[in-house]
Amino acid sequence: MSGDRLFLDIAGLPDDEQQVRQAVHQVAVEVLRPAARALDRMEPAQRIEPGSPFFSALATLKSLGYHRMFLPADAGGPDVPLSTQVQAIVLEELGWGSLGLATAFLVDLLPLTAAARFGSPTLRAGLVAPWVEDESGAYHGCWAVTEPDHGSDFMAAMRDDSVATFGRGQLVARRAEGGWMLHGQKSAWVSSGPVATHAAVHAQAGTDGDLAHSLFAVVPLDVLGVRRGPPVDMLGVRDEPQGELFFDAVFVPDDNVLVAPGPFYGVFGDQLLCTTSAAIANVAVGVARAALEEALAYARQRVQGGRPIVEHKNVQLTLYTMFERVETARAYSRAVLDHVQRAVIGSPDGGTGASPRHSRAAQVFAKRAAYENAHDAVQVCGAMGLNRESLVEKLFRDARCLLIEDGTLEVLSLDAADDLIHNYESEVYDLEEVMARW
Ligand SMILES: Cc1cc2nc3c(=O)[nH]c(=O)nc-3n(C[C@H](O)[C@H](O)[C@H](O)COP(=O)(O)OP(=O)(O)OC[C@H]3O[C@@H](n4cnc5c(N)ncnc54)[C@H](O)[C@@H]3O)c2cc1C
Repeated sequence: MSGDRLFLDIAGLPDDEQQVRQAVHQVAVEVLRPAARALDRMEPAQRIEPGSPFFSALATLKSLGYHRMFLPADAGGPDVPLSTQVQAIVLEELGWGSLGLATAFLVDLLPLTAAARFGSPTLRAGLVAPWVEDESGAYHGCWAVTEPDHGSDFMAAMRDDSVATFGRGQLVARRAEGGWMLHGQKSAWVSSGPVATHAAVHAQAGTDGDLAHSLFAVVPLDVLGVRRGPPVDMLGVRDEPQGELFFDAVFVPDDNVLVAPGPFYGVFGDQLLCTTSAAIANVAVGVARAALEEALAYARQRVQGGRPIVEHKNVQLTLYTMFERVETARAYSRAVLDHVQRAVIGSPDGGTGASPRHSRAAQVFAKRAAYENAHDAVQVCGAMGLNRESLVEKLFRDARCLLIEDGTLEVLSLDAADDLIHNYESEVYDLEEVMARW
């Protein structure tokens, strides 16, 4: 199995963790990478046609039950909760297999996990229960947050004063009898937007142009008034279809509203970004590791100057630096995932608040590691690294997208800086202070 001799964590893993790693790695090798390779070469519309490898890859993940791994036992999660070490291993292996399919896996978890933790008994019985049992990919979630005129605005507003200057949202919610009516649209970048069955939706409910009076709801995408844009054609992450979602007077019953407008919305959004940051960081480690492994394998067999290029000092230094990035990104991302899972508000342990600066730092550090490793892998592989036949070429395109996906590096870093400046003295997330700011 790849990586056995490369990574320190293998030596220390108990047997069950080794088994999980081997099992997910096998799926990554046999299912995710071939599906990702095929999808990467398809036209956008082809990727979402029935029979597309996108659906079979997701069905495999569903059949193995990975979508349940973050759920509490009473909501259909594993009887014995997975350690965060195992959760991190799963995320890293998925990222190693395909950034796009790992993204599809993560956005699927958004509506499911949020509904399991914050949903009404009706929603848990009617939606969470069958979603948990799904083994064929009948349920697939997405996260509809950004809008055509509000990309970074959402990520930035979750922490700083720009919440008040957000302006008019392009998806608004108006109160109706027994629920809310949604009017407007989300951006063309909603991962799995063209194929999802349900969306976790942020909608601005106030009329005064700030984000504070917003709601977060689970919306089935087969209801009257929902339309989808075509899948977009991107540089990378082409194995995950993205597209707009339009809501033309879509009724959302109160039962589907997980967070109503009010001060908790901001806290929820911030904590949600902590969970997504910790998760995407561990996925990014998988991308960084994939790039290292490709570069190392190539350097061992490519002969120039009369000897394998791995014997040239410059190549050795590059490979060492790549290795260092993987190890440090992994250690930090796992520590932060562990913290977030225990501390996030809404966690089974009754978390008092996950640390925004640590979660954003993990995401930024690991994404940068993934991009720099992919960049270096191209250099080690020479022209071969630029060839469409080479995995390195795809890793480079995917890793470039990572610097923007889920928040740009700059905005995430500024988020972390804001938390650092305001809360460094406090080891505990100051819920009251954050709510007061909202
Ligand atoms: C692969 C991929 C998957 C995605 N998946 C989803 C998804 O599932 N759901 C979803 O809703 N969205 C998704 N997105 C959208 C993503 O969250 C946004 O692209 C991202 O937040 C940046 O927004 P933007 O593209 O509108 O760039 P902009 O916000 O327009 O930013 C442009 C530039 O200005 C800088 N900038 C902007 N605002 C500030 C500020 N306040 N301070 C400092 N610098 C600033 C940025 O750093 C960037 O360099 C995805 C994007 C990608 C690439």
